[in-house]
Amino acid sequence: MRFTILGSGTTLPDADRGPAGFVVQSDGAAVLVDGGSGTMQRLKRAGVDARELDGGVYSHRHLDHCGDLAPLLFTMKVGIDIPRSRDYPIWAGEGFVDFLEGLRSAYGHWLEGGYQVPVHELTLHGPDSVVLPGGVRLDTLPAQHSAGALHLRFTSPAGSTVVFSGDTGPSDNLVELARGVDVLVCECAVPGPTDYRGHLWPEAVADIADRARPKRLVLTHFYPTVDAGPAIELVRATGVPTERGFDGQVIELD
Ligand SMILES: [Zn+2]
Ligand SMILES: [Zn+2]
Repeated sequence: MRFTILGSGTTLPDADRGPAGFVVQSDGAAVLVDGGSGTMQRLKRAGVDARELDGGVYSHRHLDHCGDLAPLLFTMKVGIDIPRSRDYPIWAGEGFVDFLEGLRSAYGHWLEGGYQVPVHELTLHGPDSVVLPGGVRLDTLPAQHSAGALHLRFTSPAGSTVVFSGDTGPSDNLVELARGVDVLVCECAVPGPTDYRGHLWPEAVADIADRARPKRLVLTHFYPTVDAGPAIELVRATGVPTERGFDGQVIELD
């Protein structure tokens, strides 16, 4: 299984970091995970043609995580040389069917090609689990955020594990899902606790790392108000190997 970071940034423009996006590849299949604006170009750089994706998983419906969905469905329809004909399945938290209907009502037939987009909604009220193309198992638990947010754990057919926090505040569910995993990709969006309890700050990430003990921790989604260097040092003090993710980073697992 290969997990590639397409976008390690936020919704704020950054010359080097796009908004959230990842791709999971296993056994010849490629599944997009989130996808803010610019994702399709970064997919291409990673060697994946967006029109050939085998499916998409969304952690939640904020624009920095799904802004490229309408352009993605549009390119699958237009595909000058070979318009897509096979289904493009999506897995996301409850509410995504209505969200996609909203996009369709705005864009009309431009989002309707010769393919179907079946949406498999995952529960926001407890654990859920599906098997994705490529034989990768997806396990989810609700996150402490909004817009139908979930934590995502990907398990390869060989048993390797990657957890993506999605956007979240402090979350026992994230600790549970990430316990002992090979890689935890975790947001660290804010410098400290805020009235909006929907994001993590360095001390909160350190607490999760200390309790979950992933083998490797990759931090993403820093807003500019967070000083990433000291934040990483603080989390490293837990003894969990910690680094800052970057766009184009490839994480190879069994
Ligand atoms: Zn969000
Ligand atoms: Zn976000």
